[in-house]
Amino acid sequence: MSIKDKLKAVLQEIPDGVRLVAVSKYKSATDILEAYQAGQRIFGENKAQELSAKQPVLPDDIEWHFIGHMQTNKVKYIAPFVSFIHSVDSLKLLKEINKQAFNCNRTINCLLQFHIAEEETKFGFSLAEVEDILNGNEIKELTNINICGVMGMATFTENEVQVRNEFARLRHIFTQLKDKYFNHAEHFKEISMGMSGDFKIAIEEGSTMVRIGTAVFGDR
Ligand SMILES: *Cc1c(COP(=O)(O)O)cnc(C)c1O
Repeated sequence: MSIKDKLKAVLQEIPDGVRLVAVSKYKSATDILEAYQAGQRIFGENKAQELSAKQPVLPDDIEWHFIGHMQTNKVKYIAPFVSFIHSVDSLKLLKEINKQAFNCNRTINCLLQFHIAEEETKFGFSLAEVEDILNGNEIKELTNINICGVMGMATFTENEVQVRNEFARLRHIFTQLKDKYFNHAEHFKEISMGMSGDFKIAIEEGSTMVRIGTAVFGDR
């Protein structure tokens, strides 16, 4: 199947109100253009260098989302154009994103990544860590970021019950944060969860953004 056909098939599974982030990591500009020409505008990458190399050679109206673990010293490479950073997992990183966004005279949308999986290898905050940050004073000074919601990755397992429980937990975390800290913040509305293998469950559990690579572009 062509990328165009795979994209169409995936889009048929995604209801209105849920956005598709087509994860194009390790894929060529040619592959990305094929998806672009089929109408896709949101693409996700997980390495700052790869993203900053691809962005200038691809159409300007692509909305780039960064979805990988981010080192603070790499933020400057993507700050001039990145639209969303899904994978914020420290206050230090939030501060650096704010600083680089300020230098570019723009605002960068951020999602707080939560550790919902059982695997130790996955990154992310606990709820207590985020509450400490949101109760603190430093966060109030970060005027060039918008905290738009939460992101998480479920455990890589065949056990659908476990995956569903982990996604439900992320949605619960989102609701708690919304009620307690973001009740009047219109932009706090995103739950980024679901990949090629589990996006249908994620959508059933309230995802607003699915990050899908293999199902759109094929194996990496
Ligand atoms: C690679 C990646 C994805 C997409 O994974 P697929 O299984 O190829 O759909 C989603 N989210 C993150 C954070 C990733 O690194």
